[in-house]
Amino acid sequence: MKAAVKNTHLNYVGGQWRDASAGMANVNPSDTRDVVGHFASATPQDVADAFTAARHALLAWSSASPLVRSELLSAVGEALLARRAELGALLAREEGKPLLEATAEVQRAGQIFRFFAQEALRLQGETGPSTRPDVDVHVTREAVGVVGLITPWNFPMAIAAWKIAPALAFGNCVVFKPAEWAPACAWQLTQLLVAAGVPGGVFNLVMGPGSTTGAALAANAELNALSFTGSQATGRSLAHSLAGRGVKLQLEMGGKNPLVVCDDADLGVAVDCAVQSGFFSSGQRCTASSRVIVTPGIYDKFVQTLTTATAQLRVGDALHSSTQIGPLAHQQQLSKVLDYVRIGQAEGARLVAGGRALRLEKPGHYMEPTLFVDAKASMRISTEEIFGPVVSVQRASSYADALQQANDTPFGLSAGVVTTSLATARHFQRHAQAGMVMVNLPTAGVDFHVPFGGCKASSYGAREQGTHAKEFYTRVKTAYVR
Ligand code: ADP
Repeated sequence: MKAAVKNTHLNYVGGQWRDASAGMANVNPSDTRDVVGHFASATPQDVADAFTAARHALLAWSSASPLVRSELLSAVGEALLARRAELGALLAREEGKPLLEATAEVQRAGQIFRFFAQEALRLQGETGPSTRPDVDVHVTREAVGVVGLITPWNFPMAIAAWKIAPALAFGNCVVFKPAEWAPACAWQLTQLLVAAGVPGGVFNLVMGPGSTTGAALAANAELNALSFTGSQATGRSLAHSLAGRGVKLQLEMGGKNPLVVCDDADLGVAVDCAVQSGFFSSGQRCTASSRVIVTPGIYDKFVQTLTTATAQLRVGDALHSSTQIGPLAHQQQLSKVLDYVRIGQAEGARLVAGGRALRLEKPGHYMEPTLFVDAKASMRISTEEIFGPVVSVQRASSYADALQQANDTPFGLSAGVVTTSLATARHFQRHAQAGMVMVNLPTAGVDFHVPFGGCKASSYGAREQGTHAKEFYTRVKTAYVR
């Protein structure tokens, strides 16, 4: 793409803001007449220069006092928290997430930076006796090296934060490529890091398409580790090419998260969990639940109440405080999700709410929250990740059948159960094949200080977030000293 207009937002390479001949317009999905900015697309040379700068900066950064790293992260965390209203509005404007959720995401990003500011100081090792006399063993952790970070558009602040903060905390240098549909949050984060005094080369921003900028990042010989969040197709192809080169990998690749509703569930809790899991953030969360599996004793009541609740959701401009459900992030996303509605109807699931694109006062990618019932476990709407405001309800003959249907997926990120039985809750916690289990809670909505990740095809490599983040962002050294 040739930049028709001057780029307003530049890449950050080797401590310098750098323009490019090509750029991408970032358009507000709530009002497509509103252009957030023009973002320079990094060339393969920009990416190569970012890696060279990162490699040069690595020794000084990784051997600097952890206090230096801690104070940098702390300053960024405080700035995010102080500016959360303004940056939340930016996130809502570029991605379409309602203001309340967008502001909460910026707050979470701030908390993540503050958390890893402390983690930088807590990187302790182990000492012990050797089997040989007069020899001590020291087990320490050190930076992995130059780390590539590739992020998706659906959490442009939080996911960026939970990769950037631990990478820098433990002494790595970073080349960061955000998603092409949501570069403004990444660019603002870079501004905050620069304002906080990040040394040149330690942190580099390369914006642009995955097929060119992302591919150049993944191909660079200086890449020591890659943390990626995105689609299964991209994650798998990155894994194929990088594992053979010995690049350390961490991949988060989505889910098809089940929410099981049992006969003994509190109906209000069950409907609330289904609405939040399925429709909030327009279903564009890898922890969203687009399949609800319901046992027979509560099925009819649940379907009736959920149908009413779905029809009452307020869809609108993400920047309006009364909006519950914003637009989809992009026209392509809307088309893909509408295709799934047609697929569900063709497969014979019963559409009881929504199903159409919405025309509102402003031109945007709006869609009605959509509910299918009587869906079968084998249908594509029950097995494929939709990533939109579409929920399908499947009938189960018993709790055991519901659990079996819940686990019948290649994915394993999050799984929820709604029940008032302690025995059922504990059974589900043990037997759900997922990295995260929610009891009487929506499948989406996680804390910032504990591990995040899944099993099966959802995730690969060490967990993100919390104290577990160091497993990916450090490597272990065992020293013998006489
Ligand atoms: P989504 O469907 O959520 O957009 P993608 O996997 O396409 O998921 O994108 C997630 C991130 O991966 C984005 O930053 C995107 O630009 C990047 N990406 C896409 N294709 C490639 C690729 N071939 N190499 C490296 N990064 C890529």
